[in-house]
Amino acid sequence: MTRILIIEDEKPMAEAIKYSLGKEGYEADIATDGDFGLEMFLKGSYDLLILDLMLPGLDGLEICKSVRRAGGTPVIILTAKDAEVDKVVGLELGADDYVTKPFGMRELIARVKALLRRTSVDTTEQEPTLIEAGDVAIALERHEVVVRGKVVDVPPIEFRLLNLFIKNQGKVLSRDYLISAGWQGEFYGQSKSLDVHIRRLREKIEQDPATPHHIITVRGFGYRFEPHILD
Ligand code: CA
Repeated sequence: MTRILIIEDEKPMAEAIKYSLGKEGYEADIATDGDFGLEMFLKGSYDLLILDLMLPGLDGLEICKSVRRAGGTPVIILTAKDAEVDKVVGLELGADDYVTKPFGMRELIARVKALLRRTSVDTTEQEPTLIEAGDVAIALERHEVVVRGKVVDVPPIEFRLLNLFIKNQGKVLSRDYLISAGWQGEFYGQSKSLDVHIRRLREKIEQDPATPHHIITVRGFGYRFEPHILD
C-alpha cells in the first residue's frame, strides 16, 4: 500500500487531495500545520509527501530540507500562483516536482503517479535471487533448483542440503553438520538418510552420478561441493 502524507493548512484542499488519492488506491494522511506535519512524516513511513509552502508553524521550505536530510522520499510542492520565487527555492531545496495553485486534481494525481513510478522500488517485481555454483543454481524465493538451465524438482530436505553446499562451495561439510542443518533437528542422527539424499541429489545434478563432479565424498568426514561447469 502506497502511503502519502499531505501537509496543507487549507483543510478543504487537503481533504480534496486525500479524496482524489483515495480513489486511485493511495492511502493518505493530512497534517494542517508544519511542526505536526514534519513529526508525522518522520514517524510514519511515507512513500511520497505533498507539501504546501505557506504553513503555520514550520514552513514548507524548512520541512523540505528536513525531509531531504531524512532520505529519498519524493516531495511535490504546492505553491501559490504568484510565488515564482518559491518554486525555484523549493526545487533547489530538493523537491522533486511542484504544482501551482490553483491546480486541477487530475494534474496533481498525474504528477504523483509519475513521481512514484520514477522513484519506487516495487519489490514484488524483482527477479528472484539466483545463487549460482558452476552449472547448478538455486532460486531461494521460488525453492527451485536449476541444473544446466533446466528446473529440477527436489524435495525440501534436498533443497536445504544443496543450499548449504552451494553457500559453502569448496568447503568440506561434516556429516553431522549436514544432518543437523539439513534436517533442522527433526531427525537428528539419521545418517543413512543423509546418504540416500546425497545419492538422489547426485542423480539430479550430476551428469554421471557414479562419478560425481559436484558433490564430492570426503572419506571419514563428509562432503564437499565443487562448482564445476560440465559440458
Ligand atoms: Ca498554505
